[in-house]
Amino acid sequence: MADKPHQNLAVIGHVDHGKSTLVGRLLYETGNVPEHVIEQHKEEAEEQGKGGFEFAYVMDNLAEERERGVTIDIAHQEFDTDEYYFTIVDTPGHRDFVKNMITGASQADNAVLVVAADDGVQPQTQEHVFLARTLGINELIIAVNKMDLVDYEENRYDEAVEEVKSLLDQVSFDTDNAGFIPVSAFEGDNIAESSDNTSWYDGETVLEALNDLPEPKPPTDAPLRLPIQDVYTISGIGTVPVGRVETGVLETGDNVSFQPSDVGGEVKTVEMHHEEVPNAEPGDNVGFNVRGIGKDDIRRGDVCGPADDPPTVAETFQAQVVVMQHPSVITSGYTPVFHAHTTQVACTIESIDSKIDPASGEVAEEEPDFIQSGDAAVVTVRPQKPLSIEPSGEIPELGSFAIRDMGQTIAAGKVLSVDEA
Ligand code: GDP
Repeated sequence: MADKPHQNLAVIGHVDHGKSTLVGRLLYETGNVPEHVIEQHKEEAEEQGKGGFEFAYVMDNLAEERERGVTIDIAHQEFDTDEYYFTIVDTPGHRDFVKNMITGASQADNAVLVVAADDGVQPQTQEHVFLARTLGINELIIAVNKMDLVDYEENRYDEAVEEVKSLLDQVSFDTDNAGFIPVSAFEGDNIAESSDNTSWYDGETVLEALNDLPEPKPPTDAPLRLPIQDVYTISGIGTVPVGRVETGVLETGDNVSFQPSDVGGEVKTVEMHHEEVPNAEPGDNVGFNVRGIGKDDIRRGDVCGPADDPPTVAETFQAQVVVMQHPSVITSGYTPVFHAHTTQVACTIESIDSKIDPASGEVAEEEPDFIQSGDAAVVTVRPQKPLSIEPSGEIPELGSFAIRDMGQTIAAGKVLSVDEA
């Protein structure tokens, strides 16, 4: 599995439209359901004379294990197809999805949107598509699910497709990058094999569409950006910052700079999985040692980059935000906590510059007095402590953030431009 390119896949859609069932089906069809789950339930199914109903038993078992809180949860499931090795990232609705997606813990490359044919576009369908768009998902596979419940009727499929298309238009998502497939996750239609039940459809199956996704390009061409997760002192080595390379390459001998702490030096060693390596690439979790840097010189939330192209430190920045849930209204002067890469910094929304019409992407109102749940807006933000963050147009991996208050994620956003400190 490991030699195939890797894809982080988000499975999004309204509750009960069949996300877990589809993931279960994909695991099952690709032979990635844990053996003990299959074995145990094959036996049970056969005992009860329902040998052919294996998948239902697998799903029951996954659900049961989930209820017991033991293992199964669709997030973090893995499966491989002919082309790729997929990891299902946190799913919206999942605790901290937005924060994880933004802080990189589960940044998705592409997504499958599940829409039940008998229910169509629902509020969460809208919210998730909006979020996927804001957070930079490029390609969508739209599984129009539960076709069995609408007797596999083409016109019911077409209706659902039209609803989704107008939603995608609303958020300016290029429908050329969206593939629609009529499926029944439960019955297995058009998942691994073309179904006779939908003879009017001659497009791809879900597995074919997954295989045809573009290969995510590791951002090795961008300058090095390595947000620091922790700083250790290890005897015999010294100070060892650890973190994940988001962009670029970290190499021994490089001259690096940590921002906003504003210290730097030469990389002496890079270690990955307890072994010394000459360099590290995007996605690699590393510990490294820099000549002359002590434990108190740097901290979590610093970003390491090349000394001649150091991470940007913002005096203020302009950002596009989407308010997801806020009990009242947001006005200028509001100072919640911003979560970006490995850092958390209180930031003041200094001004609300414009409200954006999600239908057209155009400015709907200049300098509105307030924004509230469901609104998209451009705001100017002043961090209360030095914050390293990048314009998302230049380094998307370091250009998004979640805004949290009262224990929940209230908004998500991406950085449009930075006024440097
Ligand atoms: P989620 O909340 O989006 O993860 O939805 P689930 O996967 O838990 O499915 C919700 C319900 O719809 C469950 O009772 C599933 O058995 C059922 N379901 C899912 N997919 C299908 C399908 O293709 N056909 C039918 N008839 N039911 C389905």
